[in-house]
Amino acid sequence: LLADDGSVAASIFAEMSALAQRTGAINLGQGFPDEDGPAEVLEAARQAISDGVNQYPPGRGLPVLRESIARHQHRFYGLSVDPDTEVLVTAGATEALAATILALIEPGDEVVTLEPFYDAYGGLIALGGGIHRTVRLRAPDFLPDPDDLRAAISDRTRLIIVNNPHNPTGTVLPRETLELIVALANRHDALIVTDEVYEHLTFGVAHVPIATLAGAAERTITISSGGKTFNTTGWKIGWLTAPPALVTAVLTVKQFLTYVNGAPLQPAIARGLALPDSFYSGIAADLQAKRDVLSRGLSAAGFRVSRPQGSYFIVADAAPLGYPDGAEFCRVLPDLAGVVAVPISAFCSAQHRQEYASLVRFAYCKKVDVLQRAATQLAGIA
Ligand code: PMP
Ligand code: GLN
Repeated sequence: LLADDGSVAASIFAEMSALAQRTGAINLGQGFPDEDGPAEVLEAARQAISDGVNQYPPGRGLPVLRESIARHQHRFYGLSVDPDTEVLVTAGATEALAATILALIEPGDEVVTLEPFYDAYGGLIALGGGIHRTVRLRAPDFLPDPDDLRAAISDRTRLIIVNNPHNPTGTVLPRETLELIVALANRHDALIVTDEVYEHLTFGVAHVPIATLAGAAERTITISSGGKTFNTTGWKIGWLTAPPALVTAVLTVKQFLTYVNGAPLQPAIARGLALPDSFYSGIAADLQAKRDVLSRGLSAAGFRVSRPQGSYFIVADAAPLGYPDGAEFCRVLPDLAGVVAVPISAFCSAQHRQEYASLVRFAYCKKVDVLQRAATQLAGIA
């Protein structure tokens, strides 16, 4: 967790947002929207503060939110979860991940993730003393090879962390891949932790929660968050659903991390989860249009681009522009084009970083005119 010189390393997102601020460049680095989400959700938070929902909520979260999460799982996925025993509200998906990993692994246990991986996974596995094994997603389609999954998952595997839709590649895993992961988890008696924070942000493909597959629910912890769905990344209201014994195990860790979190924001997220289907189809369509604007702009500027089916992110290869080192490219990009992006190598283990060296991640969860301006500026690089 330390930088090469021994100092505490800032996360890549903090580093790149600071670079954007310092240079005044358009921030397509850190993934957060630049517009507020639904007015009903914002108003519900104001109302809850006025109504005095300002003290510690219960450890598992306010009943109104847990019930809303349970209804959401049923409405969208046909899953039945008991709001009293199978739901836990957390400080963002990040705390759900932290409490889950710290609760469920012993030092020396193996934890398998896809690679590139969201940076917190690597940090949290290290904090828990786990051994991190990865299965690579390779360009251009960023899908895992089934044989690599079979090779990585063994009797030593305690957790398999799935992230679907995937940050940073935008991959939506096909059902067959999810089924293989469930089969391997059963064969080797591993637990599945699935990070589905982009569950409502898929383009033309349905999101399949891994917990809906046969043989999965009893060994799966499903994690999500209000941040991406309601444009409230700063509220840090997340949750997990899992069988009662797993929720209890995670709660024993959560109680010493944050104890509880975000009382007045919880009824507001509950309100959001009850919004009509048109809201949900609307946010996906809006984001798909933004993906297309940025994708066209990057292609026109000379990058080779991925075609993400979900999430906030697109992967671009800077090699055709003469930049084989994406980290170096991201350092000079504010000067070259007034834009900030994040190198994919920041999501990779030291061992495999080189394979992804020329790739960079751009976030398109920004206003269309901002994306168009970024595209125009990027067009000047070549
Ligand atoms: N997992 C993934 C894959 C993410 O992209 C993010 C946020 N960018 C998180 C977890 C963290 O979510 P939260 O802000 O709710 O903690
Ligand atoms: N998840 C967001 C991203 O990938 C930001 C998370 C963070 O800042 N830690 O850009």
